[in-house]
Amino acid sequence: MTAGQGGTPSKSTSPTRCDVIVVGGGFGGMYAIYKFREMGLSVQGIEAGGDLGGVWYWNRYPGARVDLPSIDYSYSFSPEIEQEWNWSEQFAAQPELLRYIDFVATRLDLRKHYRFNTRVTRAAWDEARQLWTATTDRGDVLEAPFCIMATGPLSVPKEPEIAGLSRFKGRLMHAARWPHEPVDLSGQRVGVIGTGSTGLQIVQELGPKVGELFVLQRTPSFTMPMRNVPLTPEYMAEVKRHYAGIREAARNSAVGGTRPQSTRAFFSVTPEQRRSLLEDAWKQGGLAMLGTFSDLMVNEEANEVVAEFVREKIGEVVKDPATAEKLKPRGYPIFARRPCIDTSYYETYNLPNVHLVDLQADPIAEVVEQGVRLASGKVVELDVLILATGYDGLTGALTAFDVVGRDGRTVTQKWKDGPRSYLAMMMEGFPNLFATTGPNGPAALANIIRISEHDVDWIAALIVHMQKTGASSVEPTAQAEAEWMDIIAGLARRSLINKAKTWWVGANVKDKPTGLTMYTGGFAKYREHCAAAAADGYRGLVFARRVEKARAA
Ligand code: NAP
Repeated sequence: MTAGQGGTPSKSTSPTRCDVIVVGGGFGGMYAIYKFREMGLSVQGIEAGGDLGGVWYWNRYPGARVDLPSIDYSYSFSPEIEQEWNWSEQFAAQPELLRYIDFVATRLDLRKHYRFNTRVTRAAWDEARQLWTATTDRGDVLEAPFCIMATGPLSVPKEPEIAGLSRFKGRLMHAARWPHEPVDLSGQRVGVIGTGSTGLQIVQELGPKVGELFVLQRTPSFTMPMRNVPLTPEYMAEVKRHYAGIREAARNSAVGGTRPQSTRAFFSVTPEQRRSLLEDAWKQGGLAMLGTFSDLMVNEEANEVVAEFVREKIGEVVKDPATAEKLKPRGYPIFARRPCIDTSYYETYNLPNVHLVDLQADPIAEVVEQGVRLASGKVVELDVLILATGYDGLTGALTAFDVVGRDGRTVTQKWKDGPRSYLAMMMEGFPNLFATTGPNGPAALANIIRISEHDVDWIAALIVHMQKTGASSVEPTAQAEAEWMDIIAGLARRSLINKAKTWWVGANVKDKPTGLTMYTGGFAKYREHCAAAAADGYRGLVFARRVEKARAA
């Protein structure tokens, strides 16, 4: 079949036929393209951005940086790439991540399979022809028996739900759509709305660089020191010698990485030992704190002790006691909102030009020409307003356009009460449609690259199975899907994640169904579930053979 047009958008009149359509050019999509191509299948990727990189293509905001160790946050499928690439920092910044993505894409010649600056506007299953038809905003029509949604859990920025944004006379910027050219904000009065992972990174980066920085905080996040360090050539050489073991450990861990995970329950040790373990984790930095005890996400009392430990640390750093109090998160368990790691975030509030605006005390009324007007009537006057207000996470990408399965039913209709799938990869009623890092898997709670590789490999093995058995389509039974959702619900009932209003539970988007629909049993267990289904003859799936379909027609 025809290969893709190497990054040039097209206006084709006749359908492009291929074996696999891959929607998305982030880590998951890139690996899918590579994997299926190496299997001898013809592939066509579609990407809305101007190049590969997904979240790292779009998120060019000041201070953007991965908060998992770069060694873990990288592909494991190619020993050659592992040996050829060197990371310069323990936690790589966005430009280095894009360089890595470019390195992989060039090394594997992936760009030629993509149409860039192109959005899929509709994807529909054609039961009679046993294939998916995808149409794009550039007039492309693609047809393939298989369609892979590698659309990512964080690709659709959420509506900020703030009145008057269009009235603002200054410069309005969204973190997730940051310009490609350098932006000089020195001397400017800058406002940042949002104090999640994105907002924190922007604040700590811009605080020392801009004229005045106003942080408009509604809910404070817990953040722990990143303690980023440069990686020396000697360290990288050592890592390269041990990559196989590092990857094996990651695949067998709950988080898909090398972060140690304790099996010790919080109250099984003395208060002194607990304190000492927490102090060690604080000194160690990164998300070490999360691995100190096994029950922090299920034992509320233990969780509160750890939360108070972090509040104490905030009090020690922030000089103004009133500001420190406002920065201390309360009312939800630590780690129930995505934990952040930072470099001098709290110290930033000791700078004389950085001001914390507490929206819990005085909420935003509207944006006006000069800045942000608060409910009290006070106007925070600004030259630049940055929105770090987050995403329509987990489900946003697959409900943003029509994905139409059998009998004309869309994913949006299927998910009206929340996302449902089998093993996070397949849905009843949507034959031959697969998702990587879907909303009923461990995405957001574990290393997204490990999950992407796992999901693509599992889907690839299923396609090989179909080729061998002559199946033309596959989908899960309603019962298999229900059983998977029961497993998720059973785990979710124990988790403290439900106790915070976040994108993890859909609470950040107006009118979105809320609830914990991610698999909280950890990456290793998720893999076990998927492997067991495959080993059991693809338990829970029904296959159709082309010949049966032809007879039926
Ligand atoms: P987020 O965690 O959803 O945070 C959005 C922030 O905007 C929250 O503080 C929210 O306040 C605030 N907000 C939203 N609408 C608002 C409004 N109308 N008025 C006032 N405040 C409003 O989004 P994010 O920071 O972009 O992070 C999303 C995810 O991306 C993270 O959880 C993480 O998984 C990923 N991420 C990772 C990295 C990294 O690896 N370093 C960096 C950035 C992002 P409320 O909480 O009160 O709603």
